Amino acid sequence: MPTMPFVPHVIDGKEVESLAGGVFDDVDPWTRAPWAQVALGTGEDAELAVAAARRAFDDGPWSRMGFAERGAVLHRLADLMTASAAELGEADSRDMGKPLVDSVGKDVPRAAANFRFFADHARLATGQALPMDTGHHAYSRFEPAGVVAAIAPWNFPLMLETWKVAPALAWGNTVVLKPAEDTPTSATLLARLALEAGMPPGVLNVVQGFGPDAPGQALTESPQVDRITFTGESGTGRIIARAAAANLTPVSLELGGKGANLVFADADLDNAVGWGIAAIFSNSGQVCLAGSRLLVQRPVLEEFLSRFVEAAQALRIGNPLDPDTQLGPLASQEHHAKVSGYLDLVASEGGTMLTGGPGEGWAVQPTVVTGVRADARLWCEEIFGPVVTVVGFDTEQEAVALANDSRFGLNAMVFTENLSRAHRVSAALRAGTVWVNCFFIRDLRAPFGGVGDSGVGREGGDFSREFFTEPKAVVMEIAAASDVWRDG
Ligand code: ADP
Repeated sequence: MPTMPFVPHVIDGKEVESLAGGVFDDVDPWTRAPWAQVALGTGEDAELAVAAARRAFDDGPWSRMGFAERGAVLHRLADLMTASAAELGEADSRDMGKPLVDSVGKDVPRAAANFRFFADHARLATGQALPMDTGHHAYSRFEPAGVVAAIAPWNFPLMLETWKVAPALAWGNTVVLKPAEDTPTSATLLARLALEAGMPPGVLNVVQGFGPDAPGQALTESPQVDRITFTGESGTGRIIARAAAANLTPVSLELGGKGANLVFADADLDNAVGWGIAAIFSNSGQVCLAGSRLLVQRPVLEEFLSRFVEAAQALRIGNPLDPDTQLGPLASQEHHAKVSGYLDLVASEGGTMLTGGPGEGWAVQPTVVTGVRADARLWCEEIFGPVVTVVGFDTEQEAVALANDSRFGLNAMVFTENLSRAHRVSAALRAGTVWVNCFFIRDLRAPFGGVGDSGVGREGGDFSREFFTEPKAVVMEIAAASDVWRDG
């Protein structure tokens, strides 16, 4: 029998097993069998990783290196990631069932772009210069914050890990990354490539394992950690915020969503159907930004739905490693059970399933539900699967009120050809991002984050700088106070 690959921690530049020696299975959700074994970290392993990151930060050279030199390492890492795209992408696909067209085709290029963007953003950033009329001069500096704990989810493993790790490193911090237990592999590969790119040992550490009573929790409770950046469920975000409060550690929380997708009668319907399908079914709906509440103005509701259902039925579900597959299975047995539980609610919540339902194995077919009440769990809760609920509306005001009636506020979409309405509705929507006539397009300088239960804080561009640095004011006296008012 061939032995399975082993996914170790990477601590202080070395690939290591857990101190306690434990391992756990990494299950491929398509085959539903383990394909790798992973080091089962404990709090002790997390402490070791934090200590390595602390030493690397305090001793340098990373934290004191010039931006150009540090940026060169990050660009080299991006080059190596691009050269290893097949291996990195396959790791995510086998870990969580994402089709290769998405992992190799989209996530790895974006992950590499995260390093390139933040390396350049940090190098080119400017601060404030404030000439004062008191004979002083003030300016701002951005010092690295220290040790960053990055706790990542399983839906876009490498892409979201690098979204946190890249700005943290670019600003001179050191990092302990804990990938989700369902998607351990690409993080270890990333740390391996970082060393190859010339990053000093201890600058990027990876600790594998679970959250509660495990490395995840230990990272959030460590007084040696200076920043916690987390992406995941809103409930977990609350737990992490509480843990962080004990040490007053700043946290950035990117949490769940229940994106409203507003389609007005004047919209380009082909465009709205195309983006609407991508918004809810790509990555099998396991997207915090999913457009899972679809609101369609009544004059076009019937026409829209018939085209939307046809497009949903045409999506090809299959083996993630097959290049023709568009949708893979859900990421794990546990998650499949959760999403299936929502399918079971359709009838009791008064809904009609126009298409969809259970798929093979851990897959769920693209599912379209109409007719649920505004207080239905299907309408209010984040399902995180390929399930969209659709309602009709009459007026713009009604659409905005329905969209905003949610405890989440991560993102929304608006489809209209009316320019004034596009601006008006974008302003009125309670959301961190509004896409007009498109979806998922990102400018990495733009703020990214959510309102309400969708999170705390923003990342991206200057917003990442604010979070991953300690902004400092330097005030310098350039003339003694008595000299300032002297004549001549
Ligand atoms: P899911 O339950 O869908 O996996 P989570 O939000 O719970 O989503 O998990 C996202 C990440 O948070 C994972 O890396 C997980 O291990 C970690 N995590 C879960 N619970 C905790 C916790 N109490 N403290 C720290 N990290 C946690």
